[in-house]
Amino acid sequence: MSRLVMKFGGTSVATLDRIRRAAKRVGREVANGHEVIVIVSAMAGKTNELVGWVNETSPFYDAREYDAVVSSGENVTAGLMALTLQEMDVPARSWQGWQVPVQTTGAHGAARIEAIPTANLDARFADGMKVAVIAGFQGISPEGRITTLGRGGSDTTAVAFAAAFDAVRCDIYTDVDGVYTTDPRITSKARKLDRIAFEEMLELASLGAKVLQTRSVELAMRYGVKLRVLSSFDEYDETAGTLVCQEDEIVENNVVSGVAYSRDEAKMTLLNVDDKPGIAAAIFGPLAEAGVNVDMIVQNISEGGQTDMTFSCPIDQVKRATQAMEGAKASGGIAYTDLVADTEVAKVSVVGIGMRSHTGVAAHMFKALRDENVNIKVITTSEIKISVLIDRKYMELAVQALHDTFGLEKLGGGLES
Ligand code: ASP
Ligand code: MG
Repeated sequence: MSRLVMKFGGTSVATLDRIRRAAKRVGREVANGHEVIVIVSAMAGKTNELVGWVNETSPFYDAREYDAVVSSGENVTAGLMALTLQEMDVPARSWQGWQVPVQTTGAHGAARIEAIPTANLDARFADGMKVAVIAGFQGISPEGRITTLGRGGSDTTAVAFAAAFDAVRCDIYTDVDGVYTTDPRITSKARKLDRIAFEEMLELASLGAKVLQTRSVELAMRYGVKLRVLSSFDEYDETAGTLVCQEDEIVENNVVSGVAYSRDEAKMTLLNVDDKPGIAAAIFGPLAEAGVNVDMIVQNISEGGQTDMTFSCPIDQVKRATQAMEGAKASGGIAYTDLVADTEVAKVSVVGIGMRSHTGVAAHMFKALRDENVNIKVITTSEIKISVLIDRKYMELAVQALHDTFGLEKLGGGLES
């Protein structure tokens, strides 16, 4: 029998009514002949509340107890979903992570799934159970303690189950109807994509398009799990949502598929550092140790043996980065005359697998920004992405201009499915 994984995010299970709505959808897939594994999130807002309680109780908390508290939201929805299905005469049973068991590393608060033995659920399916409801976001460590997978982690639970149980597809039900060419709040010309390649989704997810946890896309790509992102609020139809799939399942590759942005960036520049071997290691070593997520890096041409080194990081890490640099200077690891932080910047990126085979995308992008008089402060590129750092006040303008110049308005719905 074919297995299907259906994941419902927090807004899709926010009330008993919505749980009922979601359960009906599950019931329909059972009627279609699937054995269904349902992954649930905590009710919307619940996890934030639990995290708040932990912080209030113990600012430097024991991560094992953080996981004990924060994982509980999913337990409630799993039980309620199983009860709702039973009320609809669908044979269903709930499982917490440790019962399956979802075996993870011991990195509390950010654990990784290592294995999901299938025997337990398989036996119940063989007995006539039609739906296994799994509390997302959680597992059990080698020491036998409850772990959580990091915020947004139930997406990863869903993909991991789809891989372990060889599911035909993993449907991620959420509050948006798919993956868009850019944020519809920034331009009404944003279009829903029918299909997007794993690599593109990975870039968009890590750039801050919050539809899917980045790790879940990595896993889906590694195991070839077909992922579909769709809304639990729209009327259902077979072609709903966006399919995240292998590149060769997309008939026509777009040169650019999406424009992503990240608002909360900071640009830090160290002035007059010595241009000598080991200097980058002496700067970025202490930053890494301090837990600063460095993103873009630029080193200027040196003059008289000195150079400036610029990097970007999330705005809330500026203090940490500054302390790390001052510490490295005080201990003699590096020398510089000044550290300048620009906290008024944002990152805008264009992403598309077609860039691999098309030249001139960067030039096209820079011209569009020039036409809007937007100054570029830092540039980085990868095989399928070009990112620029610009003044934050021009972020919306830049996103709109790039969306226009690459004709993304014409993409949505235009691809064969
Ligand atoms: N409830 C968890 C969170 O809010 C996990 C999830 O919903 O994916 O982060
Ligand atoms: Mg989520």
